[in-house]
Amino acid sequence: MTAHSTQLLSVVVPVFNEVDGIDAFYERAKAVCEGLSDLDHEILFVDDGSTDGSLEVLEGLSRSDPAVRVVKFSRNFGHQIAITAGVDHAEGDAVVVIDADLQDPPETIADFVEKWREGHDVVYGVRESRDGETRAKLWTATAFYRLLRRFTNVEIPVDVGDFRLMSRRSAQVLRGMREKDRFVRGLVSWMGFTQVGVPYRRDARHAGETKYPYRKMVKFAVDGITSFSSAPLKLASWLGYLASGLAFLYLATVFVQKAMGATIQGWATIMVAVLFLGGVQLICIGIIGEYIGRIFNEIKPRPMYVVEEIFETERVSPAAEHELSIDRTGASDVAPANVPGLVR
Ligand code: UDP
Ligand code: MG
Repeated sequence: MTAHSTQLLSVVVPVFNEVDGIDAFYERAKAVCEGLSDLDHEILFVDDGSTDGSLEVLEGLSRSDPAVRVVKFSRNFGHQIAITAGVDHAEGDAVVVIDADLQDPPETIADFVEKWREGHDVVYGVRESRDGETRAKLWTATAFYRLLRRFTNVEIPVDVGDFRLMSRRSAQVLRGMREKDRFVRGLVSWMGFTQVGVPYRRDARHAGETKYPYRKMVKFAVDGITSFSSAPLKLASWLGYLASGLAFLYLATVFVQKAMGATIQGWATIMVAVLFLGGVQLICIGIIGEYIGRIFNEIKPRPMYVVEEIFETERVSPAAEHELSIDRTGASDVAPANVPGLVR
């Protein structure tokens, strides 16, 4: 970590059942890293509980290439947590997060590095076009990013995923943000510094299929909104005002009808009012529940993830070796909860 030593680029790659795509990814990413000849590099795969043999492929890579490190989770913890673990373990002066399915072209990393050298702390990829995605996914993604912008008080850029580069200090800030229902791109926007977008073409998946079914996407969207906005909680009051306003209007019409001598009616009206209010109340309780659930999740002092094993070749640089001996004690054991650096 001395000032004159070559700077290190860490490439963090979350992997969940990508057995057919890993080799192709590695080839392209490696070529890009080697092209950046004035930087050292490490490629840090986080195996997020794969069950398809991805781990064996990754292990093989870590044996043949000392620049490859593999952090193996004890089970599937999800994409956002896998990214977090990767950044936690990365040692680079710049940390890049990229998907393993080649939807984010590794070649774009060179553009990121250029911007980073110009002094930007965060360089994120802006999706200019997206091949191979369903119309429904594109539409829901657009709607979601617009909604998020309206509801949150953090400037989260539109059409931006987790494909990005972070400077050492911004990665360090992210390491300090331990909230559990994570929306990493929002956390990064929140921290400030100078952030800049680089447009790129998002390709179709190279192999395999998406690990984000609608169910997970909805959870992700709710995490995004609830982590950055309490606006939904205020919905209850607004609906309350609306309902009382309507009730007053209705009261007025009742008086008028009475004055005109109308006969008793109103079965339907009562039913509508009861159902409407009941529905509104349940929705509001649900929204409050959503936040309480998150508070509950946040106060449990559980680690965010559990690392089962780390595959890596010992570094040669004395400085790095020194750090390794501090950080990785017991790294290959099943992690007890009190080993810092392993369980966070
Ligand atoms: N991924 C992961 N854990 C999960 C789901 C996905 O580590 O629980 C990884 C996956 O292997 C890929 C990246 O996260 O490298 C993005 O996932 P995917 O391509 O399925 O998402 P999409 O691009 O369809 O939104
Ligand atoms: Mg993908």
